[in-house]
Amino acid sequence: MKELVVATKNKGKLREIKGLLADLDLKITSLADYPDAPEIEEDGKTFGQNALKKAATIALYTKKLTLGEDSGIEIKALGNKPGIHSARFSGEKATDRKNNLKMLRSLKNVPASKRQARYRCYAALVDGNGIVDLLSGQCSGIITKHARGKNGFGYDPYFLIKRYDQTFGELDPSVKAKISHRALALKKVKKSLRKYLKA
Ligand code: IMP
Repeated sequence: MKELVVATKNKGKLREIKGLLADLDLKITSLADYPDAPEIEEDGKTFGQNALKKAATIALYTKKLTLGEDSGIEIKALGNKPGIHSARFSGEKATDRKNNLKMLRSLKNVPASKRQARYRCYAALVDGNGIVDLLSGQCSGIITKHARGKNGFGYDPYFLIKRYDQTFGELDPSVKAKISHRALALKKVKKSLRKYLKA
């Protein structure tokens, strides 16, 4: 069975990606399986650049087909911040909790009508020969004033999906797996991988 290395250490992300690609004939591994892989400096200016850098760095090291995923949240009232800096919004020793606290503080006086946000995801496929594909997805929401639910990871307990009047923290993971930024990008990845595996 062919291997796909997912260039991430983020367990929440990996869990979702594995679920989204579960029906492909692929053995999915991650950086946890390659403890000596080089560190990836995320110095790109866009999600796309970072996704490509993650995939290329690890494909060069493993010589295997690799998926690099870069994602984050853009909050309209904060001029689309934190964007590519979502994982480290609260500094070097950032945790999901600290990032969420910083987000809430930054939006303290912002009313519900002005709390629009979107999640964005870029996914790059690279193999030993070069770039295979670069795909993306996005998903709109509203930032709540209080945490709601325990599902998902990162900013999910504050990311309200209007259509359901529930956050990604409250919604069943099977719903997030259909409508999230990552789900939409990975749907395209799947199509690309099916072609790649046939070729
Ligand atoms: P990356 O590992 O540099 O791509 O950073 C992604 C960061 O964006 C995560 O650590 C989260 O803070 C945020 N993020 C991306 N996707 C999601 C999601 O699906 N739910 C919640 N937070 C997310």
